[in-house]
Amino acid sequence: MIKGSCLCGDICFETEATPQGTSMCHCGQCRKQSGGIWSSAYVLDTELTITGDVSWYHASDLAKRGSCPRCGSFLFWKAHDEDTTSFALGAVDGPTGLKLSKHIFTASKGDYYDIADGLPQKD
Ligand SMILES: [Zn+2]
Ligand SMILES: [Zn+2]
Repeated sequence: MIKGSCLCGDICFETEATPQGTSMCHCGQCRKQSGGIWSSAYVLDTELTITGDVSWYHASDLAKRGSCPRCGSFLFWKAHDEDTTSFALGAVDGPTGLKLSKHIFTASKGDYYDIADGLPQKD
């Protein structure tokens, strides 16, 4: 069981599924919304329970981004045409039991850090 919450606690989520696709995203939208790199994993929508009133931002024709309207925590990313939702690993309470598998959108990464953990990188 993985449980997570935003900074103020108004929004909580949990899943009993084993999350897939652990990644760190360096894209421009994640940089802007999170203030840095956004780490996430995804589960099927049917396996994710969200409580609280998420503010969904229609970020592009591809996806929407969910955050807490009160504290601003960036918690969810969801493609319009997929039946999965990604959640922020940084918002998980307690150990995640997961390991990152890759870096994505590395061509958009900031110039103030290097990626040196040896994980696969995708532009
Ligand atoms: Zn909040
Ligand atoms: Zn991103």
